[in-house]
Amino acid sequence: MAQPKVAIIGGGAAGFFTAINLAIKTKNADITLYEGSSKFLAKVLISGGGRCNVTNTISKPEELIKSYPRGEDFLLPIFQKFSSKDTQEWFERHGVALKTEEDGRVFPKSDSSQSIYNCLVRLAKEHGVKVKLEHRLTGLTQQDDIWKLEFKNNEILADHVVLCTSCNNQIRKMVTKLGISYVAPIPSLFTFNAQNHHLKELAGISVPNARVAIKEIKESQDTGPLLITHWGYSGPAVLRLSAWQARRLAELDYQFTLQIQWDYNWKREDFQNIFQTNTLEHPKEKIIHWKGHELPKRLWTEIVSSAQLEEYKNWSEIGKKGIKRLLDAMFSYQVAINGKSTFKAEFVTAGGIDLSEIDSSTFELKQSKNLYAAGELLNIDAITGGFNFQAAWSGAYLISHAISKKVLSV
Ligand SMILES: Cc1cc2nc3c(=O)[nH]c(=O)nc-3n(C[C@H](O)[C@H](O)[C@H](O)COP(=O)(O)OP(=O)(O)OC[C@H]3O[C@@H](n4cnc5c(N)ncnc54)[C@H](O)[C@@H]3O)c2cc1C
Repeated sequence: MAQPKVAIIGGGAAGFFTAINLAIKTKNADITLYEGSSKFLAKVLISGGGRCNVTNTISKPEELIKSYPRGEDFLLPIFQKFSSKDTQEWFERHGVALKTEEDGRVFPKSDSSQSIYNCLVRLAKEHGVKVKLEHRLTGLTQQDDIWKLEFKNNEILADHVVLCTSCNNQIRKMVTKLGISYVAPIPSLFTFNAQNHHLKELAGISVPNARVAIKEIKESQDTGPLLITHWGYSGPAVLRLSAWQARRLAELDYQFTLQIQWDYNWKREDFQNIFQTNTLEHPKEKIIHWKGHELPKRLWTEIVSSAQLEEYKNWSEIGKKGIKRLLDAMFSYQVAINGKSTFKAEFVTAGGIDLSEIDSSTFELKQSKNLYAAGELLNIDAITGGFNFQAAWSGAYLISHAISKKVLSV
């Protein structure tokens, strides 16, 4: 009997991981990976600034899902089957030594994404996966349980099809034609642009414990390092906020007010008391020379100036209103944001195939037998930290398991 044909579309992380694991699990399938461009694993190579942040040490499924603004509930049973610990063991078992950074991000010990690339390419070859470059899928239809795949110059038939293409218009049209619902894609993980950037002169300054929030979105806030850049605001706190609020920010057309508390450990009442005491105990001391804030001096000077307190003002001259303005500038510094930029080109797409279409134990499309999808093509995305790859590895692994079971039972 002829071997069942498996066509995997998209030669990225999800495509390679599906193909390799399926080939490891069964010799019973004829597996071909079709990549539309002239290069595979392009994102793996540039990921993590060329170091590839493969996954994260958070491995408890209930904890791991908290890093996914979209996909959280869907991913729980999936991470119970293939979690970040499994990813680490998988790569170590296949010859990639890994290391963990203080914040829990996992990278190859070589500090080079080439190690991940080499591992995936070598395993695909060793296990007989055929890889075809410049094969962009342009059409997909099913007839009598067989899938017909159209490429620019040829057509093929396959028993099982796995879509691992990330989001793009061509694939959106193809899947929606099959009646599969698709959530409109929008960017996630971006930095905030301020056209009228008062702190431009402070570009390069970062504060470790900022709290950032969006005035127009109730209960939106995140904490962590904040970086002032030439064009606006960046750093982990901003990137996380952009991911969690990606949809609402798109609705606001990226025009909003960013509120910054420069240190989330501060308590407003404490500072109010300190400032009142200063008016009595240090009346002649200049406000801009005060050091109790632990911020870079240039940033404090800007905060004082934005509270409309002139450089020469001392504590005896601040007055109640001045104290209030100073506290507002420390606890709720307001910046008009009017656009976004990508962070070191590191962005992901929020949106893609609606998760209600997917069987979470197999990643098979509920309405389309023997059609599967994994990776960024699904409406799943995460904050930075190796979580986006983790979702791709986990989904791909479950698909390989599901197809191998079907193939073995033929
Ligand atoms: C600069 C950058 C850095 C990143 N760094 C990290 C990181 O360190 N850690 C992390 O967890 N995440 C990171 N990410 C996110 C991560 O790279 C993605 O989530 C992940 O690569 C998604 O894998 P995928 O296989 O689903 O899609 P992709 O890697 O996008 O692969 C899809 C493939 O499908 C091909 N394709 C598309 N359409 C077709 C078609 N019609 N026919 C055939 N082939 C097609 C594409 O050419 C592509 O090769 C980063 C992203 C970027 C952009």
